[in-house]
Amino acid sequence: MGIRILDPDVAAKIAAGEVVERAASVVKELVENSLDAGATEISVVVHGGGLDLIRVVDNGTGISADEVELAFERHATSKLSFADDLTGITTLGFRGEALPSISSVSHLSIITRTKDAQFGTFLEWQGGELLRKEIRGSPIGTTIDVSRLFGDVPARLKFIKSRNSESGRVQQVVHQYMLGYPDVRFRLILDSKSPQVSGGLGKLRDVLALYYGSETASKFLEIKSVGEGPITISGLISPPTVTRGNRSGISLVINQRLVQNRSLSFAIEEAYRGFLQIRRYPMAVIFITVPYDDIDVNVHPSKAEVRFRDERIIFSALQRVVRELLLAASPLNTIDNPWPTENQDARHISKEFSRADGSFNLVMDVDARNLTPVQVPLIPKEQLPLLQILGQLHETYIVTEGPDGVYLIDQHAAHERVTYERLNRDFHAGDPSVQWLLEATLVDVPLGLMETISENAKLLERFGFQLEDFGRGSYLVRGVPAVLVGASPRNALLELLEELNSGLGGTEFQERLVSTLACHGSVRAGQNLAMTEMQSLLRSLEECIQPHTCPHGRPTMIHWSKAYLDREFGRR
Ligand code: ADP
Ligand code: MG
Repeated sequence: MGIRILDPDVAAKIAAGEVVERAASVVKELVENSLDAGATEISVVVHGGGLDLIRVVDNGTGISADEVELAFERHATSKLSFADDLTGITTLGFRGEALPSISSVSHLSIITRTKDAQFGTFLEWQGGELLRKEIRGSPIGTTIDVSRLFGDVPARLKFIKSRNSESGRVQQVVHQYMLGYPDVRFRLILDSKSPQVSGGLGKLRDVLALYYGSETASKFLEIKSVGEGPITISGLISPPTVTRGNRSGISLVINQRLVQNRSLSFAIEEAYRGFLQIRRYPMAVIFITVPYDDIDVNVHPSKAEVRFRDERIIFSALQRVVRELLLAASPLNTIDNPWPTENQDARHISKEFSRADGSFNLVMDVDARNLTPVQVPLIPKEQLPLLQILGQLHETYIVTEGPDGVYLIDQHAAHERVTYERLNRDFHAGDPSVQWLLEATLVDVPLGLMETISENAKLLERFGFQLEDFGRGSYLVRGVPAVLVGASPRNALLELLEELNSGLGGTEFQERLVSTLACHGSVRAGQNLAMTEMQSLLRSLEECIQPHTCPHGRPTMIHWSKAYLDREFGRR
């Protein structure tokens, strides 16, 4: 076929595809318009992942009757009157592309009214063509309905994995705005489910509580607005005890704009150095304001990134603020480290995983900061000394006497090690020990994870999960990996799915999944153990190949030698 010029309407669709590439980006653009219009209440209703319906209702300024049609012209915007050169932009939108783009790939209707107008203006568009324009009664503000999104753009439809996964993305987008704008009251209704409402009272902690529960939210540490020259930083960060397995818990709001910025996220992670175990990540919602002229917002098609005039200043200010808060909030380290040298190595082992042939790889964390991998194949089994149990301490530690002094065992860490090695063995043998539940548990899987569950059905089975699809995102858990007896099948499954969803791969990843399960299947601190339970735990630990550390690299035991005790008591 020879070269030809595209029909104008085809060209319009192709250009549109760049701005609104998926349903979630339509939601994002419409919500941003509502925020730019000063709305204090925004409601988002979505059906079928946004392909069937997206409705955004706001109580913002509205558009005056004589300008509504114009708003649908490409590059028509009310937001760039001064800044022709795209600097100093204070609004979320500025390209005048969203409305024309969306209306050219969907069926769109808008009804909008300003406070000075008596009636609203109603417009209906189909594939970029104006079908109807009417005067109608309307409250002040704007309502936009988008239906049959991408109905005539099969290429875009193919790009969308499924309605469910798109619903998940829409939810993510709206959640981010709820966090970024705690002053605004958001309402999100997905497929007629019960509405998710954010307070709108300006309390960020209340919004956090929606996702993490009020107990967890109450533990977040507050960065009281601090100024560093023209930069201000405020927000909430998770304490070291509240972590997650991936980086998705960090939200950055820069000059009221939700952005992704790897280097600033890294600044936050860096501040947690030494506070978090390896491969655990903090959660944070950080608000940064900088002079508008110091950032360039016109660098990304969906405006998801900004560029700073001088990123280093913000990086180090952010890192310092977070670090100082963590240090101020951390308990004093009162115990002098009594580690004898023979255990020193164990403490620095940060990771190990078994291969199918039973050999082990070790990665030593040499200075506990810089991961320096040291391959030590075929680690021989470590021997534990013969230990006699004296009792339990604080429902957390098992106190034992050995041939040379006192050994204190962390019951959770020890159990994690035992569970981890068992799971690993079973997993590699492809022979999981399944515990069938007397009463199957019904688990509602969040939208964003539903794909994950179907994509990983085989893997989940190989771990010992026996699941039955109950429809509409519910699963009946009939059996669990035997190690999970007594644990919540729901929590273990959901955390595993989250790990799977993080999209990593490889042996290291598998090892992490096993550690996750091991953690769930292990006795907690705060659990009273009978003597027989302690004995059986100790016996199992003795059988482990690496009994000195838990799968995350923490020690399972500490040892005070007889010589050390004598010295401390001034006997020598
Ligand atoms: P941009 O936001 O980049 O200006 P859009 O195509 O998203 O471009 O919107 C075009 C114009 O329509 C905006 O500049 C604004 O004047 C008006 N507009 C769009 N949505 C709303 C809304 N919800 N409330 C008030 N005005 C709106
Ligand atoms: Mg816009």
